[in-house]
Amino acid sequence: MLLRSGIGIPTRSIVIPAMFHPTFENHLKTLERQSLYRSRQINAGPQGIHVDVDGRRLVNFCSNDYLGLANHPAVVKALQLGADRYGVGSGSAHLITGHCSAHHALEEELAAFTGFARVLLFSTGYMANLGVISALLGKGDRVLQDRLNHASLLDGGLLSGAQFKRYPHADLTALAEILSQGREARQLVVSDGVFSMDGDLADVPGLSRLCESRDAGLLVDDAHGLGVLGHHGRGVLEHFKLGPGSVSVLVGTLGKAFGTFGAFVAGSDQLIEYLIQRARTYIYTTAIPPSLAEATRVSLDLAQRESWRREKLSLLVQRFRGRALERDLPILESRTPIQPVLLGESRRAIEIADRLRRKGILVMPIRPPTVPEGSARLRVTFSALHEETQIDWLVEEISDALTNS
Ligand SMILES: *Cc1c(COP(=O)(O)O)cnc(C)c1O
Repeated sequence: MLLRSGIGIPTRSIVIPAMFHPTFENHLKTLERQSLYRSRQINAGPQGIHVDVDGRRLVNFCSNDYLGLANHPAVVKALQLGADRYGVGSGSAHLITGHCSAHHALEEELAAFTGFARVLLFSTGYMANLGVISALLGKGDRVLQDRLNHASLLDGGLLSGAQFKRYPHADLTALAEILSQGREARQLVVSDGVFSMDGDLADVPGLSRLCESRDAGLLVDDAHGLGVLGHHGRGVLEHFKLGPGSVSVLVGTLGKAFGTFGAFVAGSDQLIEYLIQRARTYIYTTAIPPSLAEATRVSLDLAQRESWRREKLSLLVQRFRGRALERDLPILESRTPIQPVLLGESRRAIEIADRLRRKGILVMPIRPPTVPEGSARLRVTFSALHEETQIDWLVEEISDALTNS
């Protein structure tokens, strides 16, 4: 087809070749038939306990803004001041001119926070995981992953070209067996710290001992533990009273409990130097806006100092579990602010989520392939800003929806 461009020159519009059309059609129809079609909703305001979605005000039980910092006035102010000082864009990658004093200060503060020798900022957690795993491993190496690990960890393992093994969720006996099959190779065990869709904790002390005894590396991605677990919010390691020496690599994200955006890798000085040279998702991408780093420095400080946020979360979790068990809701064995309600079929998960939405509650139905086949669920999450009365109401409404559907 010929189009006329603004300046009157006929140009050819590049359409997707017709041979792709059946793929699109088949795929979309299949997803719809299986209740696996996903669509976005439009949120008109800030992240918080209330969100304005598709023109309606709903109580939000599905954000990862656990500490309620995403719209904290001091964090917003820091972003504004950061923009005044640095402008908006970082202008280039960290290895060109993009690495600003704001990024550097944040890296140092994150190192002090986690207790690791050094920290390297990445643009997202997804990129951190792709970058670190593919920099550490290659052909001839082995990567061993918990079956329920986050997609970015799995993708990092696949991208690396290492031999890829998954072990049954939390099964250290099976892991030990797989480790013993590869004694000659370099091996890296990879696990979520808090499993993102189930809310349970990895047995990090057990993983650490096992890896040490088999001379394997251990990478823990604590996206949902940092800020939330431990008295100071240092995550799953602090929860288990472990020091930084118990894992080889710690990955953290900044878009969840810290309420901003970005991610980091923590480790030894040498590991970080190596990643600066070799992690392609670090090297070949634009540095995050320095104003975001400034905002994160403030949210990191709030997350550490305001331990009431963690105490409140823990109270809300206990309240939810108590009420949910009284009502016989199919909740899982989780002590974190991720409280899944297991429903099984995708269609049922959608139906229950729709009912809740009509009552003014926003909870997302999580379906395969995000979770295993037949284990669709509502992924309920809490924020330190929720009220106990909202938790009670949520349990009543879920209970009603389950009995009436
Ligand atoms: C969310 C998440 C990521 C990805 O982090 P982003 O910064 O959102 O890209 C990585 N790992 C785990 C376990 C996560 O839950």
